[in-house]
Formats: sequence, structure tokens, C-alpha cells
Amino acid sequence: MKRVLVFFLCCISLSTAYAAKIVGVRSWSGPEGTRLVLELDGSSDYRVSEDSTPGRLIVTMPRAATSIEGPRWPARVGMVDAVRLDATPATPRLVVDLNREAEAKVFLLGPGGSYGYRLVIDLAPHTTVIPVAPPVITQAPAPAAAPTPAPAPTPVPAPENRPRKSSRSSGRNIVVTIDPGHGGEDPGAIGPSGNFEKFVTLAIGKAVAEYLNSQDGITARMTRDSDFFIPLQRRRQLARYDQKADIFVSIHADSAPSRQARGASVFALSLKGANTATSRFAQMLAEQENKSDLVGGVVAESDDINNVLADMLVEGTLKHSLEMGRIILGELRPTVGKLHNSNVEQAGFAVLKEPGMVSLLVETGFISNPDEEMQLTDPAYQRELAKAVGEGILNFCRQFPVPGTYFARN
Ligand SMILES: [Zn+2]
Repeated sequence: MKRVLVFFLCCISLSTAYAAKIVGVRSWSGPEGTRLVLELDGSSDYRVSEDSTPGRLIVTMPRAATSIEGPRWPARVGMVDAVRLDATPATPRLVVDLNREAEAKVFLLGPGGSYGYRLVIDLAPHTTVIPVAPPVITQAPAPAAAPTPAPAPTPVPAPENRPRKSSRSSGRNIVVTIDPGHGGEDPGAIGPSGNFEKFVTLAIGKAVAEYLNSQDGITARMTRDSDFFIPLQRRRQLARYDQKADIFVSIHADSAPSRQARGASVFALSLKGANTATSRFAQMLAEQENKSDLVGGVVAESDDINNVLADMLVEGTLKHSLEMGRIILGELRPTVGKLHNSNVEQAGFAVLKEPGMVSLLVETGFISNPDEEMQLTDPAYQRELAKAVGEGILNFCRQFPVPGTYFARN
């Protein structure tokens, strides 16, 4: 029976499949798992083979060929020991040797961003617990709602070099999750000198987390601390459920069609729904940011934005997000000189659609502006920016102390 099925599939493949060539291969590894991306010169059929074992993933790719030679295949990356295309059988097989049992997701991505067709293999540790339950919204507390602290698996650890802090006061720490935008497969915006947004956001994000961790009453976490792609929905869920964040700040450095555009801006979720932004610019930026999942490759999510907004309004998190945005803008103004917009703008950013956390997206500057690209890649400027964002978050915590926290008791 198996033989018949395989034969049948071969027939289909021969009639429809383009003889794709694997022209490039990239790999990333992070706390969430390991990703392999095979760049193809056209579309290809593929199928996870039943010959796969816990230690070896086999993907058949009818008529596939490759120009990649031995040493250029990734080796010893995260969960992957070795990868190769075995072209000797009638149907070529991609063979991925694993060093531990993994859950594999294999999918084909069409052209997106600066990429053509890609076959993506996502490997997650077999034991990863990914929360899927919708948030349970309890009766609304007036101030910024704090998720109940409870022990939970934490795939992304806090930065290792976190200094020990004095515990002169009781009261729990406020948890702030810093989310460096883009990563891995998704470079984000690219500056005129070729700098990738994903590296700028990672450097600034790390600096913000480091600054916050040096302060009393705050624990900063990160959604990613290396060059790794994380879907937008996973970023906010990681913050809310795994890290129990009170505050979520996504860091970006974006681009505009005009190279003159400059200055920082701060965004919250749009009040009136997915298609109502406070400006054309905010709308455009949200659309650009939401493409991240398309570039990186994720199944479309189906959030009902109106339900999310209703939850946020009930909890007061949207109001608090706007307050925190206003305070951060005040701190950023002297650092960046000129703000792109001195008010907190609002649009339908997918990464901000999580009730229960004060959520903002900080656009630190325009990587499309040659002067700002230089600044944004300068470590001293990155630290200055990070300090301004960190100070803004701290001031917000002082002005709107969440009951039971360090800030409410000091
Ligand atoms: Zn971005």
C-alpha cells in the first residue's frame, strides 16, 4: 500500500513540480528552536518522509538538485548536527540529522521581501510547552493589570549578567519584556549602507534590558537575545504567559520612502480597530511591521481585534500604554533631538494585540535616513537611546505603581 501511495505521489510531482534547485541555505538557533531555510530558485513539492526517525528528519523533494557543496551545509547548529541533499534515490531526499528529538514544521514560503521561494524547517524541542489557551480576563482592577505571578517554564532566560539587586523592600518586581523587532529570516528594514534593522533592534533591546536590570524593582526579560525569528503572536504570548510580563516594549528602527524622514516615534494599538490608525504614517508602519510574519513565514492568525480592544479598555491597559508612551517620548526628545511625532500614535500592530500588558512599539529612528542609520548603529548612541527608553519605563512605573509591587511600596 505504501509503495502504491509513493508511486502515486511521484506521478503528481513529475507532472507539476518544477525541478527546483537549492541555491542557498541559512540556519539560526535560539531558545525557541532551530530554523533551517533552504533558498530555492523556484517552487518545489516536498513531503516529510515516513522514513524519518527521532534522530533524523527526511524530506523528499522530487527532482530537486543543489549547487551547495559539503562544507557550505550548516553543521552543529542548535538541534541540527548535519544537513545534506541525497540525490541518489529516484526522489532526492533532504536529510537532517538531529542531536535530540524535535518537533518539525516544514513549509514552503513564496517570494517575500528580498527573498524568493524558500523551504523552511522549524525544529522545536520536543518538550516545549506553548500556551494556546486564550487569556482569562478577571474582573478589572483599576490600574495596569498585573498577571498573577505563577511558576511557569521560561524558554527565554533573563540576561545572564543581571546584577543582584538590593532587597531592602518587599513588593514584587515589575516584569518588563523587551522585544527586539525582526530577527533571523526577517531582516526588517535595510538602511542605505546595508545595515539590517534586526541587528539594531537587538543591540538597543539588549541595552534597554541591561539598563532596567540595573534598577531596583524591575526585572527585564527579552523575547530574543540572538539573531532568531519569532512570529509576532508568539512574541507577545511569550511575554504574557511565559515571562508574566506587566509591560511589553517592542523595539524597531524603521524605514520610510523618503530618506529625509527622521526622528523617533512611539506607537500603541489603535483604539478604534484594525483599520483605524491615527495617521497615514502609523497605518503604513503597522502594515510594514505586520509583514514580518509573511517574510519570516507564519500561518496567519485570526484574532478578533475588537475583542482584544474591549479587553484592553476594560483593564485600562490601553490607557496606561498611552501614558507610558507619552512619558517615553518625553525622555527620548532630548536624546534624539527631533521626534517624528510628539504624540503617541496608534495603529493595528499585530505584536501589540495582547490584553493584560501595557504594550508599546518604540520606533527608535529611521534606518532609511543615512544620518540616522549611522547613529543607530553606533554603540554609544544605542546606549543613550536605551537609557531614555528605560528611564521612560521606570518613570511610568513610579507614576502608576501597580499594587503589591516594589513601586507601590517605595
Ligand atoms: Zn520593524
